[in-house]
Amino acid sequence: MDENIRTLKKWIDESDNVVFFGGAGVSTESGIPDFRSVDGLYNQKWKYPPETILSHSFFERDPEEYYHFHREKLVIDGVKPNRTHMRLAQLEQEGKLRAVVTQNIDGLHQAAGSKTVLELHGSIWRAYCSKCRRPYPAEQMNHGEGVPRCVCGGVIRPDIVLYEEPLDQNILSEAIHYIRHAEVLIVGGTSLNVYPAAGLINYYRGNKLVLVNRSATPYDSYADLVIHDNLGKVFSEI
Ligand code: ZN
Repeated sequence: MDENIRTLKKWIDESDNVVFFGGAGVSTESGIPDFRSVDGLYNQKWKYPPETILSHSFFERDPEEYYHFHREKLVIDGVKPNRTHMRLAQLEQEGKLRAVVTQNIDGLHQAAGSKTVLELHGSIWRAYCSKCRRPYPAEQMNHGEGVPRCVCGGVIRPDIVLYEEPLDQNILSEAIHYIRHAEVLIVGGTSLNVYPAAGLINYYRGNKLVLVNRSATPYDSYADLVIHDNLGKVFSEI
């Protein structure tokens, strides 16, 4: 086993206060592509960049086009939690992991069995009316046709944070609380370039900040342990 992975394993073994903070890279092994990675096919099919379609003003202006994109790019059928999700759920059950803070909206941590999951950007598995806020099951929104509507006539929307929208302050505060009091903070699958990722790490006060990412991040020199490796591989060894 790699020396750095051995150190990470030791820190986890000795702690009952581990917090994990993850980004899109956590779900890639489950087959969920990062919607930011725009390929050639993308430009043939969509008239706007994903950041535009996934914005508050675009949703208001053209919910039909939004839902085309939502159902094709955000909802991916048959995906399952991978070994990172599974191991994190297990660590929580063992009383070692206190919380998962995630930027992902795919619900895979809960599917793996994790209980304390702070979804900074919401979840595509919850829906509500944009007018009266009445909650709705996600099924019709994710798999139906056209624009889903509330009994009040309002457009049903996913409970995700679109561009131009603020984060949920309660979830953000809770995430900060866990990070601030963590003994071991593992940050994985994020390049730490996207707001609010980098900002959140600044709340950590301990001396066991671990970064697990395939490539270098702006925070590498700031971390106590850096592992440039496949996240799933690392989690299958700890
Ligand atoms: Zn309504």
